Amino acid sequence: MAAALAHGLLAALLPCNCVLCGASGPGLLCAGCHQQFFSAATLRCPVCANPLPPAPQTVQALPCGRCQAERPAFDATVAAAGYALPVDRLVLQLKFARQLALARLFAGLLADAVQRAGSDSAQRPALLCPVPLGLQRLSERGFNQALEIARPLGKALGIAVHAKLAVRVRDTLAQSSTPHGARHANIAQAFAIPDRVLVEGRHIGVVDDVMSSGQTLQELAATLKRHGAARVTNYVFARTPPNTN
Ligand SMILES: [Zn+2]
Ligand SMILES: [Zn+2]
Repeated sequence: MAAALAHGLLAALLPCNCVLCGASGPGLLCAGCHQQFFSAATLRCPVCANPLPPAPQTVQALPCGRCQAERPAFDATVAAAGYALPVDRLVLQLKFARQLALARLFAGLLADAVQRAGSDSAQRPALLCPVPLGLQRLSERGFNQALEIARPLGKALGIAVHAKLAVRVRDTLAQSSTPHGARHANIAQAFAIPDRVLVEGRHIGVVDDVMSSGQTLQELAATLKRHGAARVTNYVFARTPPNTN
């Protein structure tokens, strides 16, 4: 315990190396990389977070053509970055190399993106719900990266996190290894809401590391809405560009 505390203190005092470029500095991300990958003002669809063509910053972004033609079950999505080099590497390091400190970094960057998206705190979710992992994947990995991001995000935004608001009722194949045409069937009816009272009439924030085709978030939002959620907002660290979905 004392050793762990001392180690933590030491780590806080020593300069770190930027997780993207390796430059030493006070934090996990240097100012240059922060500027280049996380504060570039990519205009994104307020509903699905896909990039929109550039427009004057003063104009309120309208939903993209796809979302206007067919509204997803979720109402809004905030993404901190595009899922592209070199940001994608960080996500893989969190998931497969257990670099759990990255989850706090992602949460901080995502909290910044939420502030930039401009919704005042009255419009923020009442509860945060991490996308649940199936039991098999959870036991393989040992942690749920969505929950690891949701906890510090909830702290930063002042929103309670409920780890078991939604649960997986069946193990599914990883969406990333499922062919496109089969992704909807793979995820259909994968989720359940154990306690409807937590959801009914409320604005729920769903947290995940990456949004790719959006089928997982669509299915979870549809499940939350069936259980009476008034509104669903997705908070995702990285959004896969549409042409590589
Ligand atoms: Zn850097
Ligand atoms: Zn859209």
